[in-house]
Amino acid sequence: MSAKPLRLSRAGPKPVRVSFEFFPPKTPDMEATLWEAINRLAPLQPNFVSVTYGAGGSTRERTHNTVARIVKETSIKPAAHLTCVAAAREEVDEVVRHYWQAGVRHIVALRGDPSGGLGTQFEPHPGGYASSTELIKGIRKITDFEISVSAYPEKHPESRSLEQDLDALKAKIDAGATRAITQFFFENDHYLRFVERARACGITIPILPGIVPVLNFNQTAKFAHQAGASVPHWLAERFAGLDQDMTTRRLIAAAVAAEQVLDLVDHGVEDFHFYTMNRADLVYAICHLLGLRPHLQAGRL
Ligand code: FAD
Repeated sequence: MSAKPLRLSRAGPKPVRVSFEFFPPKTPDMEATLWEAINRLAPLQPNFVSVTYGAGGSTRERTHNTVARIVKETSIKPAAHLTCVAAAREEVDEVVRHYWQAGVRHIVALRGDPSGGLGTQFEPHPGGYASSTELIKGIRKITDFEISVSAYPEKHPESRSLEQDLDALKAKIDAGATRAITQFFFENDHYLRFVERARACGITIPILPGIVPVLNFNQTAKFAHQAGASVPHWLAERFAGLDQDMTTRRLIAAAVAAEQVLDLVDHGVEDFHFYTMNRADLVYAICHLLGLRPHLQAGRL
């Protein structure tokens, strides 16, 4: 009997890179939770950590303060998210300059959701950037930031087709984006096929899979529905009956995420972007499975 080929995820250390996404905290308690998570994950030496920008610019100050504190207190490279929603170009440009002054060198440039909420028509601010492509060009005019953008393996909900999304991604790259981070997904095939199609149409930048640990199935399913990510029946089955059983739910969440990332490793994926929800333990465990170990640096996180 011939031996089965060794799965890549079992074939010894690999050059895996990770990045972590956080959201800016609203209260001192949430800030403490966020920093616990950052302090726990920092020794894994992520490639970068990103901080989201609330709908309509609602977290402008908090996003800025969070990335500025990361620059000051850690050796991790932060990426600040930025959207075009509900702001004039001058206001957005000012935020970009403030990020630069605070020592931030990486922006995740997004159009943002329509002010009327998902499902409504996106209306650009009369004096604002009308698309993520315009925003990227605007940032490039100001200074030389590293620019990451979004990508949608199951297509953006407003998009007519995957082709339209791939054209949009190409336009963002032509404008200056050098990395894409995907919307989360649960069927790895969606991601793997998307990357294949992107490569086939000449897109060569890294396309990082966005991985969301399912800490609360009902909440994740609701968000997935809004974001155009499908929730497979088998995933619902795995969490069925656990609404009141947090301990088992967490163990299942770890098992589900482990299954997903190790399968991606088997398919040759070496970069992972984790939506942390400002919680470290599950993501830390998954990173351990990926072979990452903490590196402690004297004096700095
Ligand atoms: P875009 O890439 O601008 O595309 C939006 C739609 O327009 C698509 O249908 C696309 O096909 C079409 N389109 C775009 N450009 C062109 C073009 N040149 N020609 C033709 N069609 C085009 N939202 C927040 O509010 N704050 C955040 O911090 C945030 N972070 C995110 C991080 C990631 C990794 C992802 C995947 C999403 C994030 N979002 C965030 C959500 C995002 O703002 C929404 O999905 C929003 O609806 C679209 O913005 P975008 O930049 O992703 O889309």
